[in-house]
Amino acid sequence: MSCDWLVRGGRVVDPANGLDGIRDVAIRDGRIFAVAESIDPAGAREIFDASGLVVTPGLIDLHVHGYEFVTPLGIDIDRHCLGRGTTTAVDAGSAGCDTFPGFRAFAAERFRTRLLAFLHISRTGLSFAGLGGDNDTPGELESLRFANSRDCADCVGANRDLVVGVKIRLSDSIADGGRHEAESYRRALEAARSTGVPLMVHHNFSTVPHEDCPGRLAPGDLWTHCYHGFPQTLVDPATRRVIRVAREAVERGVLFDLGHGQGSFNWTVAEIAAAEGFWPHTISSDLHRGCAEGPCYDLPMAMSKLLHLGMPLEAVVRATTSAAAAAIGWGDHIGSLAPGREADLAVFALEEWDRPLEDCQSQQRRVNRLLRPRAVWRAGTPAAITEPACFPNTDSIARQRPWWGRLLVRDGTAPDSP
Ligand SMILES: [Zn+2]
Repeated sequence: MSCDWLVRGGRVVDPANGLDGIRDVAIRDGRIFAVAESIDPAGAREIFDASGLVVTPGLIDLHVHGYEFVTPLGIDIDRHCLGRGTTTAVDAGSAGCDTFPGFRAFAAERFRTRLLAFLHISRTGLSFAGLGGDNDTPGELESLRFANSRDCADCVGANRDLVVGVKIRLSDSIADGGRHEAESYRRALEAARSTGVPLMVHHNFSTVPHEDCPGRLAPGDLWTHCYHGFPQTLVDPATRRVIRVAREAVERGVLFDLGHGQGSFNWTVAEIAAAEGFWPHTISSDLHRGCAEGPCYDLPMAMSKLLHLGMPLEAVVRATTSAAAAAIGWGDHIGSLAPGREADLAVFALEEWDRPLEDCQSQQRRVNRLLRPRAVWRAGTPAAITEPACFPNTDSIARQRPWWGRLLVRDGTAPDSP
């Protein structure tokens, strides 16, 4: 059959279509043309030999920061996402209603990666917000005048081609010592409910208790950073069990998202949660300036950590394709290799590896398999694969170590030097 690309003989893992088997994938005119056990290569203009490799729908990363040059956290999305197999990235609140037009012009339209967005309840988004925590820089909710639910909702409604939800960060350091957290949270929920989109919440070092968050989240809302070990961790530090309010939230349909980032992946918390079967519904990287060169590196590295914890490959791929697409209401468009879909697909090697891999506080685990990107197509056109500048990044591991002391849930002994 005539096609532009034939991706031959890979292990195709496409949870949306219940597929995990050796298949050929044909791409024509930017779309998936066919997926079959054997496709005649005679009519293919280009062939990619995927034998021994894993082929998936292009990955969907629900939590990144891609408003480069305008926000301190912003990164080059094509380098750090598309180059690692992520064909759709969702910016988590870098823009608010006042700064969204710039996000559209200078980020969403600039990158080849499909870049969508959760709109921050703060009208300026993360335009001057750094990492929060122990610093003197202001946060996005220093005044309640930054959080106007009607203006936020109007912006969501006017930009539904790109905006998939509302975002808030609940941390006392970015909300005038916590004084504005509860009211801002109420306004964020109001903006999301009035527009029928999910709310994504970042929740640590916060004055808002678990009874309110995730307690007041609705089905489809996302609690990101679900494996962090700081105050508001989902693991009770005393019993070292997942808290009841988190389990009840799961039963209600609240989604828990990984949001690895610079501080939010903790091996101890992750192991406790995994042992109880408390897995993330969606795996996201929270890639930004502070973690794109370690401790997260990229989405496939975060996926490798879930593989190490015992999550099956099919479930890991689901959490970064069909489940992620469904979470943002894009399930009919992305996250599947069904014929007719835009041809977003990625190829990975599942490499044998036997080295320690760090979490966000320098705790390490010996990991024996890594998912490494090998090829990616966005709308049928290939893009170059990129590599982390330095992996493992021992400087980053050393830099993160002081945060170990702030953890409520952690290993019994301090992490070794790298
Ligand atoms: Zn983030």
